[in-house]
Amino acid sequence: MSCFYHHDRDSVGGCKSCGKSLCPECAVDLGKGLACRGHCEDDVRALITLIDRNVKFSPQTARILESSRKIRSSAATFNLMTGAIFVAWGLSDTERFSFIIILGVCFLAYGTFGIFQARRLAKERQET
Ligand SMILES: [Zn+2]
Ligand SMILES: [Zn+2]
Repeated sequence: MSCFYHHDRDSVGGCKSCGKSLCPECAVDLGKGLACRGHCEDDVRALITLIDRNVKFSPQTARILESSRKIRSSAATFNLMTGAIFVAWGLSDTERFSFIIILGVCFLAYGTFGIFQARRLAKERQET
């Protein structure tokens, strides 16, 4: 592909607004997309703002948040259970005592952290 404005130059990408291919000299990088220098900069800026807003509030994003929260809470519950089993096992077996208990405590800590994270995600969801 060559630049829409300079047919002898290779394009680095397309304008997010009008779709014309642009060379580095004609393209303005607005972070999340390119724009024709001096033509589409404002349009593309508005478009990026719009997309950002949609991504933030779309039901799909909420659903992803919700499912990741569920995965996190079940993983956290699993870790807590595993931790409790290891601690109980370690207490009943003096030979493996320290190692198993340390492992169990790690699982418990990780599980607690996971539950905390899931709570935080749930809170964020309510706020939006
Ligand atoms: Zn353009
Ligand atoms: Zn050009």
